[in-house]
Amino acid sequence: MSPSVVVVGAGPAGVRATAAIAGKGVPVTLIDEGARVGGQIYRQPPPGAERPPKDLYGSEAAKAVAVHGCLKEFKGLIDYRPSTLVWNVFKGQLDLKSAGGEEKVPFDRLLIATGAFDRVIPFPGWTLPGVFTLGAAQIALKAQGVAIGRKVVLVGAGPLLPLVASQYLKAGAEVAAVIDVTPFSAKVAGFWQMMSKPDVVLRGLGYLYEIRKHRVPVFYGARNLAVDGSQNVESFSWTSSGGKSHRVDCDAVGASFGLRSETQLADLAGCEFEFDHLLRQWLPIAREGGRTTQETVYVAGDCAGIGGADVAELQGDLVANSILEDLGVSVDKERLTVVEKRLRQYSRFRAGMERAYPFPHHLLDDLPEDLMLCRCEGIKLGHLMEVDAKTSPHDVNRQKAFSRVGLGRCQGRVCGMAAAEILSKFNGSSIESAGRLRGQPPVKPITFTGSSAT
Ligand SMILES: Cc1cc2nc3c(=O)[nH]c(=O)nc-3n(C[C@H](O)[C@H](O)[C@H](O)COP(=O)(O)OP(=O)(O)OC[C@H]3O[C@@H](n4cnc5c(N)ncnc54)[C@H](O)[C@@H]3O)c2cc1C
Repeated sequence: MSPSVVVVGAGPAGVRATAAIAGKGVPVTLIDEGARVGGQIYRQPPPGAERPPKDLYGSEAAKAVAVHGCLKEFKGLIDYRPSTLVWNVFKGQLDLKSAGGEEKVPFDRLLIATGAFDRVIPFPGWTLPGVFTLGAAQIALKAQGVAIGRKVVLVGAGPLLPLVASQYLKAGAEVAAVIDVTPFSAKVAGFWQMMSKPDVVLRGLGYLYEIRKHRVPVFYGARNLAVDGSQNVESFSWTSSGGKSHRVDCDAVGASFGLRSETQLADLAGCEFEFDHLLRQWLPIAREGGRTTQETVYVAGDCAGIGGADVAELQGDLVANSILEDLGVSVDKERLTVVEKRLRQYSRFRAGMERAYPFPHHLLDDLPEDLMLCRCEGIKLGHLMEVDAKTSPHDVNRQKAFSRVGLGRCQGRVCGMAAAEILSKFNGSSIESAGRLRGQPPVKPITFTGSSAT
C-alpha cells in the first residue's frame, strides 16, 4: 500500500511539492482552504470572474500560470481538496472541515506549506469599518476585482506596501497617500544586500515608478498613526519623522507591518520552535531539507520563514525530495544541489530586505492607553498594562491567562505579536523572552453542524 502523503497549502510551495511527489508516482493529498490553487501571490479569482494573467499578476504572470497549471498532468495521483480547512493536527491525523462536513485524514508524511499573513500593529481607529490589512486590500483586488474604498490610504512596513499601491493604481483606484513607517535611510542601508537579486530590486523600483507616475505622495518614517471617523473611516493622520502633523481625507485604509509565518499547524503537530532574530518571530526548527523535529512532519515556504514566492517554489521542490528520500524513493541529488545553491542566493537578499524594512518599534511608543488592543475580547492597552503591573507575567501565555488578550476568536493571530512586543517593553526584556502563544485548535473559527454539536 502507498504511504499517505499529505500537503497542506496550495501556494507556490505546496503546489511545487505536490507536483514533485506525484511526479515520482507517489499519490498525494493536497488540502487548501482556498477555492483554487495559487496561494496568496498567485491567488485566482472565482470561476467566471477571471481576468488576463498579465492584469492580475503583472511581471509575475508567467510564474502564476506555471504554478496554476503544473498539477494537471498528475491528476490521477493527486487527491485535491479545495475549500477545506485543516483545523487541527493530532496523533498522526488531520482534522478537516469543508462544506461537505468534518473528516479525519491520517498521514504517514505531512508537509505544512501554510504560508503567512499580515503582521498587525494596532493604532487608534484600526477597528473602524473600512480599515483592512494590506493583504486583505490586495485579496479584494485580485479575487473580486474591487478596491477597498473610493479614496484609499495605504500604510505599513514591508514590500507589500509599494506593491499593493502600484496594483491599486494600475487598476484605476484612487490612492490618496502611501505612508511607509520605516525611514528612507533604511532602504539605502539594505540596497546593496538586496542587489544580490537585481531582478527583484528592479521589480520593486517599478512599483515606486508607478506610484510616482500617478503623483501619489509617499512619506517615510511616519509615526502617531490614527484613523479618524465616527462610524466609518473619514481621514488618516500621522506625524512625519521631522515632527510635522499630516491629515488626508479617505474612506478606506490598508495597513500592515510585514508578514508573519502561519505556524499553528506545525505547533499542533508537536514541532519544536526557535526564535528567528532576522524575522523577529518564532519559527518551527527546519533542518536540512525542511525536516522538522517531528520525524514525519516537514515545512516549506513562508510558514518556515518569510522568503517570498520564488523561495517558496524552490523549497517546495526541495522538501518534496526530502519526503521522497525518507520514503525510500530515489531522487536526483545533482538537481537538488542546484536548487540549494539557488536558495542560498536568496538569503543575502532577505537580510537586505529586513534591513530596508526594519521592525517599526517607534509605533509602540506612540500607543495611547485607551487603544483597543485585542478586539475579539475587547481589551484595551491600559487594562493590559494594569494586569501586567499586578501579575508580572514572564511570557505571553501567562499574560493571556491573566488578561484574556489572545484568547478570542483569532487565537492571537491578530493581536498576539503586538501583545508580545508590549510585554517585552513592559518587562524591559527581549522580545524572545516574551515567548510565543501556544497554538490551540481550531486554528481558525469553525462552525459545528449536525451531530458534531451534540
Ligand atoms: C495576503 C498576502 C498577499 C501577498 N501578496 C504577494 C504578492 O502580491 N507578491 C509577492 O511577491 N508576495 C506576496 N505575498 C507573499 C507571498 O504570498 C509569499 O511569499 C508566497 O506566496 C509564499 O508561498 P507559500 O506557498 O509559502 O504560501 P502561500 O502562497 O501563502 O500559500 C499558503 C496556502 O496555505 C493555505 N492554508 C493556510 N492555512 C491553512 C489551513 N489551516 N488549512 C488549509 N489551508 C491552509 C492558504 O489558503 C494558502 O493557499 C503575499 C502574502 C500575503 C499574506
